[in-house]
Amino acid sequence: MAVDNVTALGADVYEIDTRMAGYSGITAGYLILGDRPCLVETGTSTSAPIVRDALTSLGVGPDDLATVVVTHIHLDHAGGVGDIARFYPSAEIVVHEKGARHLADPSRLMASAKMVWGDKLDVLFGALAPTDAARIRALGDTGNIDLGNGRTLSSHYSPGHAKHHVGLLDSLSGDLYVGDAAGVYLPETGDLRPATPPPDFDLGVALDSIALFDALGPQRLLFSHYGPVTNVAETLERSAEELRIWVDLTRQARSEGLDLDHAVAMVRDRTRERYAALQGDETTAEQFELLSGAPSNVAGIMHWLDRTPG
Ligand SMILES: [Zn+2]
Repeated sequence: MAVDNVTALGADVYEIDTRMAGYSGITAGYLILGDRPCLVETGTSTSAPIVRDALTSLGVGPDDLATVVVTHIHLDHAGGVGDIARFYPSAEIVVHEKGARHLADPSRLMASAKMVWGDKLDVLFGALAPTDAARIRALGDTGNIDLGNGRTLSSHYSPGHAKHHVGLLDSLSGDLYVGDAAGVYLPETGDLRPATPPPDFDLGVALDSIALFDALGPQRLLFSHYGPVTNVAETLERSAEELRIWVDLTRQARSEGLDLDHAVAMVRDRTRERYAALQGDETTAEQFELLSGAPSNVAGIMHWLDRTPG
């Protein structure tokens, strides 16, 4: 079967456009194809059939997928876990320990997503289906996934964006799956913007995670939003700089006594010129807003400032 949403990245790694809500080029999953095929990120629940078609096109049948791992349990990354687990009954589901119980019983996660997204929830994400707890392996600060033939994917706890976030380093390729911890990258424009949603965002913790990524010495970064980046050091520096800029501006808005809506407007206005995506066509700007929207970013930073003394 031919599909048009799979891109070979070398070292038996394939990028899969999971087509969240029908958009192209904003949400990526990755297949590491070896003796023990491993899917990194499932995309949303509505993406699951698209991901299955992609895996079929790569020769991965229902009993062939060994592992499904998610960088964190936000629905754009893990919303399809329950469906994919059902499609691939032999696969072990791997997730940080702070996310594991939500994959087994998604009711609380879905309720809070409903509060945030309202009527848009069904269109954007669909519903996360539960996964049999016996199939879930919870990761601590570090962990290992066997990719076969001595190749491993090591996990590294990297909170800041979310308290259940891990980065994943491929021992063979040096690829680092950064999830959302290094921000949101738009390949069309080269823009990089932070993703600082409530309720977990914490600047110091997020900067520590970026420093950890740098210390791991990756050869390439694979963004869930979106795609590969090879100038690693420069990109991670930019990730940290972007965080500091958004926090500084939000802090300023807060000290001027602006409410959330006005703070969002101010930060959006003062950061606009940094991003080529916001100068160009509206579709690209809209995609950027969907994944690292100013309202969500500023609300996350405000939430952190509110509970941080000084
Ligand atoms: Zn995301």
